[in-house]
Amino acid sequence: MAALILQVDGLTVSFDGFKAVDGLNFYVEQDELRCVIGPNGAGKTTLLDMICGKTKPTAGTVKFKNLELTEMIEFQITRAGVGRKFQNPSVYEDLTVAENLEISWPKKRSVFGSLFFRPDAAVVGKVQGVASQIFLREQLSTKAGLLSHGQKQWLEIGMLLMQDPELLLLDEPVAGMSAREREQTAELLNGITKGRSVVVIEHDMAFVRMIAHKVTVLHQGKLLAEGSMDDVQADPRVIETYLGH
Ligand code: ADP
Ligand code: MG
Repeated sequence: MAALILQVDGLTVSFDGFKAVDGLNFYVEQDELRCVIGPNGAGKTTLLDMICGKTKPTAGTVKFKNLELTEMIEFQITRAGVGRKFQNPSVYEDLTVAENLEISWPKKRSVFGSLFFRPDAAVVGKVQGVASQIFLREQLSTKAGLLSHGQKQWLEIGMLLMQDPELLLLDEPVAGMSAREREQTAELLNGITKGRSVVVIEHDMAFVRMIAHKVTVLHQGKLLAEGSMDDVQADPRVIETYLGH
């Protein structure tokens, strides 16, 4: 078995006695693209919230490489190499695509004040490389506010890629996208899962089939099933609680 980048053991969070995630074990390998599916309210977003430090678990451990993430705060987790995309894209609408990518370059703030920042060759090269990956090479000087919803979703993924995360967590990245944009997003995600691991929450099973190495099914905060797409889709418990509806 390949080395694990993420080891979640016994993870539990209780909101006023209601366990949104309940005793979950979840292991992701290096260079793996994992999809997490399950009905609304299954605890998928809450799982990502606990990995990235937004929500503190009631019990359990989250190990990323040799770091215990439950003992760290959000910005330390980001800096350690975990990137998180939330359900709604949050880009700076008044800035161009290039500017949105530039401000996501982690070196900038530590070296210069933003007022005096002039992009050096390394940043420019990185911005162009990432813009190509996210299909926005021709839109570098377009204001983000003018992009389509799908293009904003790509830009936000690009802003995360500027930081070269080793683990990328994406919450419903193709929501609101056209069929063509979904195919392109699958291509994008398949391309970036080299030297990094990606966890994707998604409902669109056709999309999941295009990208998933393995699928985890959550239900009521617990693991319902896990395995290949074919195994999971044929699992009577998964059909009963999720796919059948
Ligand atoms: P999913 O992403 O699978 O649709 P969520 O993780 O968003 O599900 O939510 C799981 C359950 O936990 C839901 O019933 C939701 O209402 C509840 N929940 C999530 N966050 C909180 C919170 N901060 N306080 C109370 N309940 C919450
Ligand atoms: Mg959710």
